[in-house]
Amino acid sequence: MPAIFKSPAFVLSGQDLGESDRLITFYTMLRGKMHGIAKGAKRSRRRFVNALEPFTMLDLSLALPRTTGLNRIDSTEIMDNFPVIRHRVECFIMASLCCELVNLWTKENDTQEEIFKLLQWYLKSLNDGLHPRKTTLFFKTLLLAMAGYGPDFDQCLLCKRPPMSDHVIFKIHAGGFICSECWNSVDRTHKISLGTLKSLRHIQNGSVDNFHRLTMTDSVFEEAWSLMKGLHCHHLERVPSSYEAFNGLKLEIRK
Ligand SMILES: [Zn+2]
Repeated sequence: MPAIFKSPAFVLSGQDLGESDRLITFYTMLRGKMHGIAKGAKRSRRRFVNALEPFTMLDLSLALPRTTGLNRIDSTEIMDNFPVIRHRVECFIMASLCCELVNLWTKENDTQEEIFKLLQWYLKSLNDGLHPRKTTLFFKTLLLAMAGYGPDFDQCLLCKRPPMSDHVIFKIHAGGFICSECWNSVDRTHKISLGTLKSLRHIQNGSVDNFHRLTMTDSVFEEAWSLMKGLHCHHLERVPSSYEAFNGLKLEIRK
């Protein structure tokens, strides 16, 4: 008998494997990211009835190989399939982006229960109808910090003092900002407002409990959104493919 591993888990992604199987990527509470083969899932959808759709929360059982090889999915029980997210295009794209980011940022069998909890808070909030872009901004800011790449929002990279004026220059490559006293000699792309800096600091230093307390103007929100996208893409050295779907979404809205 193979060893059975059981854990609550989220489905991050899936891909076809050979003629009849699918290879599913999960984020589990007990062991972080894990893969499992869904035997026969491509040929018959009945066996796993919707359990392997992206961002479904499962009670997962994996049969672990005795020596080498892949885990096999032994059983799945749906704990939550977040139906509202699936019926709203914007929420679906946001949730897909966040699952893709978790997949890109994490390594196999590297347990980070805080990432599991963040994903759980995020999908539940999205499903409960909380502002999709704001919840996604919280998610992306906190995930970046959990991955160990949270920028320094507190002090200027050069003079090490807190910002004194309304704007700063953000240096994505250096993971911090340059204040107006020091910015004479630097390239001024990525100028952001103090409000944006403070909002991101508030999110990063706090927790999801700060969600309702933080209010942001549209311009602060847009700046924070684009800065977070820039930081994730820079550190991951790629543009996550879900961002393409955002471009499609914007076009659709414009029509
Ligand atoms: Zn300075």
